[in-house]
Amino acid sequence: MKKVTIIIPAYNEEESLHFLYERLEKLMNKLSSRYTFEVLLVNDGSADKTHEILVELRKKDERINYVDLSRNFGQEIAMLAGLDYATGDCVIFMDADLQDPPELIPELLKYWKEGYDDVYARRTSRKGETFMKKFTSKLYYRVLQSVTTVSIQKDTGNFRLLDKRCVNALKQLRESQRCSKSMFSWIGYKKKEVPYERDPRVAGETKWKYRKMIDMAISGITSFTTSPLRISTYLAIPTFITLFAYFAYVIVKSVYTSTAIQAVQAIILLQLFFSGTIILLFGIIGEYLGRIFYETKNRPLYFVNEYNGEKETNE
Ligand code: UDP
Ligand code: MG
Repeated sequence: MKKVTIIIPAYNEEESLHFLYERLEKLMNKLSSRYTFEVLLVNDGSADKTHEILVELRKKDERINYVDLSRNFGQEIAMLAGLDYATGDCVIFMDADLQDPPELIPELLKYWKEGYDDVYARRTSRKGETFMKKFTSKLYYRVLQSVTTVSIQKDTGNFRLLDKRCVNALKQLRESQRCSKSMFSWIGYKKKEVPYERDPRVAGETKWKYRKMIDMAISGITSFTTSPLRISTYLAIPTFITLFAYFAYVIVKSVYTSTAIQAVQAIILLQLFFSGTIILLFGIIGEYLGRIFYETKNRPLYFVNEYNGEKETNE
């Protein structure tokens, strides 16, 4: 019998976990004749009772496993920790807040059985989310797609099933600035889309504030492509053409008409234009420099406090 690992990162999800377990338990029991299950919850340094609840759930049900990280590392790293500790023949990523209905899992499994390696759920609607959030997320996909040649799946979250070989591939991508969405695309393999309606959170509130989403969008783009660096080239060409033309015009005019140049306004405009360009380019360079800085440190991406109640010693 094939083993399925359901990876769920959880950060301050004390209110959601019981609902989550109920829904998962029902599902696992229903499918127990065909698959064995492992639910792998990654406690991402929660400050609430998440850890206690996980200990309690594991006592009740052996299928529940948990990795307790030493602090909050963020969802992306929590997901990687999940991949590292998963033992199944495939993994399914889910949010702890039940926005991704577990009832879709049998359908994901069906396509896996048919031979697909990466079965991802595509949201057709997103209940309980603000217009701004939906709009920005749509825009983000557009931008991300326009700067890269690898095809990005639109309107997908992290809710997806990955075959073991995708898991092994992803485990080898150990950069610290992670953007799972683009990594899923980047590794390739046979993909299948499953549409679904996204539910609102059952409890608690979103951990993705705007500031964090902007951060994620920037690192999504810059970790994936260096094409923003090319902005400098594209901007520099017309800039220099303008500069030479204007320079020639000024010299010629002053020689032939023997008048002083009324240049104050022109200088101000040029000054603004060039400083703007320079600032922008420095920003972009800094972006990549920051990335190099993080990657060259080559630190482990996370530390684990305990796995299923056993203290991790980091030996
Ligand atoms: N999450 C996490 N670490 C964090 C932030 C979030 O592990 O630092 C988890 C969170 O518990 C949830 C999932 O990542 O299971 C998605 O977070 P959330 O529902 O807040 O994001 P949204 O669905 O609003 O995009
Ligand atoms: Mg959510």
